[in-house]
Amino acid sequence: MTRTKIISTFGPALFDEAVLKEALKYADIIRFNFSHGTPEEKLEAKEKVLKLSKELNKDVALLADLPGPKIRVSKLENDVIIKTGDTIIFSHSSNSKPGEVPIEIDIYDDMKVGCEVSIGDGNPKLVIKELKDRKIICTALQDGKIASRKGINVKGVNMSAAPPTQEDLKLIKFVKDNGFDYVALSFVKTAQNVKEARKLSGDLLIISKIERQEAISDIKEIVKESDGVMIARGDMALNIEFNQVPVVQDMIIKECRESSKPVIVATQMLASMTSNQSPTRAEMTDVANAVKSGTDCVMLSDETAVGRYPLDALKAMSSIITYTEAVGLSNKEQQKNITDKNEGVAAAAASITHMCKTERIFIPTVTGKTAKVLSSFRPEAEIYAITESEKLRRSMCMYYGIRGVNLGKFSSEEEMTSSIKKHAGESSIKSYLIVFGKSATAGISDTIKCVW
Ligand code: PGA
Repeated sequence: MTRTKIISTFGPALFDEAVLKEALKYADIIRFNFSHGTPEEKLEAKEKVLKLSKELNKDVALLADLPGPKIRVSKLENDVIIKTGDTIIFSHSSNSKPGEVPIEIDIYDDMKVGCEVSIGDGNPKLVIKELKDRKIICTALQDGKIASRKGINVKGVNMSAAPPTQEDLKLIKFVKDNGFDYVALSFVKTAQNVKEARKLSGDLLIISKIERQEAISDIKEIVKESDGVMIARGDMALNIEFNQVPVVQDMIIKECRESSKPVIVATQMLASMTSNQSPTRAEMTDVANAVKSGTDCVMLSDETAVGRYPLDALKAMSSIITYTEAVGLSNKEQQKNITDKNEGVAAAAASITHMCKTERIFIPTVTGKTAKVLSSFRPEAEIYAITESEKLRRSMCMYYGIRGVNLGKFSSEEEMTSSIKKHAGESSIKSYLIVFGKSATAGISDTIKCVW
């Protein structure tokens, strides 16, 4: 299994149970995209994932990705075909006249003349020429078409719409009540948006999707407030200058490592595999580079949701990660500031694994805190977090190099040591560390025991 975790987006390509079961051998997290289909369909799919992952005896985390304030073209009878130089008028659906393109959210007050508007994945592009009578009058910069429900992004403006929307709030309650592990907030602008969602989210862990300039500017605070971050490169490349995306990706990965928060590199990683059986050279390199930069997770979107070759895409991703990790290219060297004693213990355990041959680190855990912090130091050895809690084991699927394992209850240190010894023996592991807390306080580790 790879240390860098794989997120697979669920969709029609995984409807077949045999295909889904095979996919779960490679995926650590299944993402349910609530922008499509009904919540009830997602629930049914989630139950299937849980059932099959149990059969495989593998923990797989469940990530609900919420739509957020995505700006979309309203439902159209026919596509609008446009030619370079054409004038196209956008207006809010409540006030749209025939011949204009209706939009679901009223964005008029946020618009500025001269800003670039992109439709869908970025084609066609238009420029705002005039704002008049609540109409956004644009000139097409490219030939193309505007289809029903396509997304709209406008570069260089500060959109007032922010998550959680009313729909997001309803969905947060739904996914919390139905046992999902993570919820992803789309189009986060500021840390305050995360705080708003937190009021309702209970034990759900919150992933902030970074896809707007405002979020990049507030990244430190957003990382601090979130339980993880997704680098949503699709919409990001339309909201900032596209040539900045690779540098922003590296900056966000570093920021998350520093704060011991998991980070996901998302979108178009193996896009060509939606219709081809093999990845392009550039895609292989993109996955390997994300691993080298030290990301926790890489994500597949359309490739596994609607692609023709979902299993080939998962196998390709897994094999690129496996090789890149095996030759030692994943970034372990980032210096981190030690801010508390727990981090000091975690850093010491990670250094032991770098200096001495150590195959595994076992961490009996109640909160997962030490395992998660240790993961951010990218130790040489795999981390086995020991807990009976399935929910906690699933939450750790998002973190680099952590596997959850259930070894039952221990009533003494001796019992713990001997259970771990037995478990290690069954996997022919000879050298390992046990990081644990002798004190009674949950979440505090103060002891490293070396077995070699
Ligand atoms: P989406 O987010 O799949 O919700 O669009 C990912 C992205 O924008 O990259």
